[in-house]
Amino acid sequence: MTKPSIHTLLSKAVKKLPRLEVEILLCHILGVTRTYLLAWPEKFLTAKQYSQFQTLLARRVEGEPIAYITGYKEFWSLDLQVTENTLIPRPETELLVEQALARLSPGALVIDLGTGSGAIALAIAHERSQCRVLATDKSIAALNVARANAQRLGLHRVQFLISDWCSDLGDIKAELIVSNPPYVAIADPHLKGEVRYEPHNALVAGKDGLADIRRLIAFSQSYLVPQGWLLLEHGYDQAEAVRVLFKQHTYESITTYQDLAGIPRVTVGQKTSSFL
Ligand code: GLN
Repeated sequence: MTKPSIHTLLSKAVKKLPRLEVEILLCHILGVTRTYLLAWPEKFLTAKQYSQFQTLLARRVEGEPIAYITGYKEFWSLDLQVTENTLIPRPETELLVEQALARLSPGALVIDLGTGSGAIALAIAHERSQCRVLATDKSIAALNVARANAQRLGLHRVQFLISDWCSDLGDIKAELIVSNPPYVAIADPHLKGEVRYEPHNALVAGKDGLADIRRLIAFSQSYLVPQGWLLLEHGYDQAEAVRVLFKQHTYESITTYQDLAGIPRVTVGQKTSSFL
């Protein structure tokens, strides 16, 4: 085919994919913003750009998430690199950041357990330059992505540590521990959808999806100062079970917050002041 213009290409591709997605792919290949596509619809693509576009379009039509195709996802207005070794940050996880920020005083130490691309840790560090932020993951590949994101965003004070949940935290005590752990049940049918491209071990947590949450609630208490907070993201139907677990481990001020879709998404608890 002869070289297509932006306009021709967009009008054809929107038969296969939503317009916004087509525009994102095209912007990625051309290295331009969406405004450019509107301003220059008559511009031609080179043969190379056209064939690149066809390849990316086919990947997206197959179901691969846009974020893995472009290698980026926006979270908390920060542009984050993502790879197949990290979960793609979700907008609902911003609720976890909001609740963490509401509880952080200057100088506090916050630990993001299982940081993945670094989304939560970097959003907090971006908002609270006075806080110390430690991001952990058991995956070296994920931690490398998180570290690269911190570098690129100039958030040089964030520290990184390989740790399987709390196993390598040593004698650290934090004012706040935050985590978006895996919480999907192994037989959940939605694992067959687009999430099949994401790291299984960042999503799936045993038969009821609570395996990691159980460990986090049981073990992280020893790494909190008295009255320190544990904040966890969880699945749409797990709030009650998570609150019970917090209670069993003597946490106080247990509260669940809803995300923008009205789904109970984040539960928090405060370590008792008398806990020894
Ligand atoms: N919210 C994600 C999903 O529905 C799951 C993320 C997680 O397990 N932490 O796919």
